[in-house]
Amino acid sequence: MDFSLTDEQLMFRGMFRDFAQKEVAKVATHTDEAEEPPRDLLKKAAAQGFLAAMIPEDFGGAALDPLSYALLLEEIAKVCMSTAVTLATHNSFAASMIVKYGNDDQKERWLPKLAESLGALALTEPDAGTDTSRLATRARLDGEAYVIDGVKTWVSNGGTAGTLLVVAQTTNGPAVFAVDAKTGGIKIGYREPTMGLRGVSINTVYFDHVRVPAIDRIGSEGEGSAIAQAAITNMQLAVAALSLGCAEGAFELGKQFAVERKQFGVAIATKQALGNYFADTEIDVEALRHLIEYTTWLAGQGQAFKNEAVMARLFGAKVAREAANRMLQVHGGYGFSDEYAISRIYRDARALDFIGGTPQIGRVMIAQQIFESAGVMIQP
Ligand SMILES: Cc1cc2nc3c(=O)[nH]c(=O)nc-3n(C[C@H](O)[C@H](O)[C@H](O)COP(=O)(O)OP(=O)(O)OC[C@H]3O[C@@H](n4cnc5c(N)ncnc54)[C@H](O)[C@@H]3O)c2cc1C
Repeated sequence: MDFSLTDEQLMFRGMFRDFAQKEVAKVATHTDEAEEPPRDLLKKAAAQGFLAAMIPEDFGGAALDPLSYALLLEEIAKVCMSTAVTLATHNSFAASMIVKYGNDDQKERWLPKLAESLGALALTEPDAGTDTSRLATRARLDGEAYVIDGVKTWVSNGGTAGTLLVVAQTTNGPAVFAVDAKTGGIKIGYREPTMGLRGVSINTVYFDHVRVPAIDRIGSEGEGSAIAQAAITNMQLAVAALSLGCAEGAFELGKQFAVERKQFGVAIATKQALGNYFADTEIDVEALRHLIEYTTWLAGQGQAFKNEAVMARLFGAKVAREAANRMLQVHGGYGFSDEYAISRIYRDARALDFIGGTPQIGRVMIAQQIFESAGVMIQP
């Protein structure tokens, strides 16, 4: 068992850390306050190849191994969760679908575009959240094209993406479509006024008689649920990496504050009550890191990692939420002020329990796996 990073992974991590510290950190507060995606920064991220993280080299991509990709998200999430979630949504939700299920023609047409501009996944609907088996969005075959009608909600990158991966019902079940966001009939609607991740454009997207060439259907009719589930599994692993970075970012801010802030004539870091917060967070962070390393190892070996991704994501979101909460407490009343970055991290961390599904449905999936071998079927 070798836990060391390869030379290449070390090189990547250095590069990601450098970009995060030099480019991302300086715009993180403004991104949150302005409630706007950091468009210039995202262009720089594209130039670095971060939008091509999952794309094979044959199609101009960076083809990062799963652990290197997790390191990318971790380093960016340490300083700006909005930017990290934007990248994770693009790579794990959108690009991954075409990488895994697209044919060569689709890869040649869509992947170079995705290497340069953002992608999004349009799955959730007003009446189909956890239960995505009841999608109301329809894709009707009309000659050489499908006509899509429906409403999608909570589309991360909805207002910024050039490519939408849309899941819609056909006569033979759900299917996935790659759609240019500028196609006639698409209207980018309401932007969710979220408590955190304010630099991510999360929108409702309307589809009104949107004609999509049939050649842009990814996979077959009826395969949409399986394709969406694979993307969700990718995203769950990404959420674990985002959680790790989020927890580490909170930890560093708390540590710095605890060393500098003096009460009773000494640094508050000397007080055991606070020391316990740091010790507990350190344990959580290291446990999460190993869960991610193991799950990315499975993914890199081409082995199934669905169950491990759910566990890593469930644990990760909890670790990030608790780390942010503890470190906010370390800041005392200042933690409750928007003047301090920990308050942003606390708000951002809360989103990790929703992206790629909720902890409740995640536990259902784990329980299903546990009891399957005993012949007991658990329904959500
Ligand atoms: C920040 C953020 C980003 C998102 N990004 C995207 C995106 O890019 N693309 C996209 O398509 N969607 C996205 N979503 C939507 C997200 O996937 C859904 O919010 C999530 O799947 C839950 O659906 P819902 O909000 O409709 O809640 P509901 O399904 O209505 O659930 C409400 C509550 O009931 C619980 N519940 C439901 N069913 C069960 C069950 N069977 N057993 C136990 N508990 C259950 C849920 O866990 C939850 O606590 C995003 C959401 C957020 C908050």
